[in-house]
Amino acid sequence: MRRIVCQRCGDVIESKSELVTTLSLLQGIMPYHLDCHAQNQKGWNAGATPINSQATIAIMIIGLIVCTVLLVIIKSWVFVVAGLLAPLLRLLSWLIYERFLP
Ligand SMILES: [Zn+2]
Repeated sequence: MRRIVCQRCGDVIESKSELVTTLSLLQGIMPYHLDCHAQNQKGWNAGATPINSQATIAIMIIGLIVCTVLLVIIKSWVFVVAGLLAPLLRLLSWLIYERFLP
């Protein structure tokens, strides 16, 4: 079992319910405690949207629908890449962190 360490406080994250993963453009996908992420929202990293949240799943579904419609109408591979970006981030978050937590 891999230890997942919060990037803000340095403590071990014990379960999926405590875990929030966010995308940092400089550091990639980063793990935080739920409370530490909430405190981060007040600081420099205020724009970081959690990857492993219900809202992200809704954004993925809406993005896939919009990109599929645009792909059918405009027929450009750009919409395939745009539509798969959020699901790929969610998959990476699961592969790197979530699958190791109970
Ligand atoms: Zn923490």
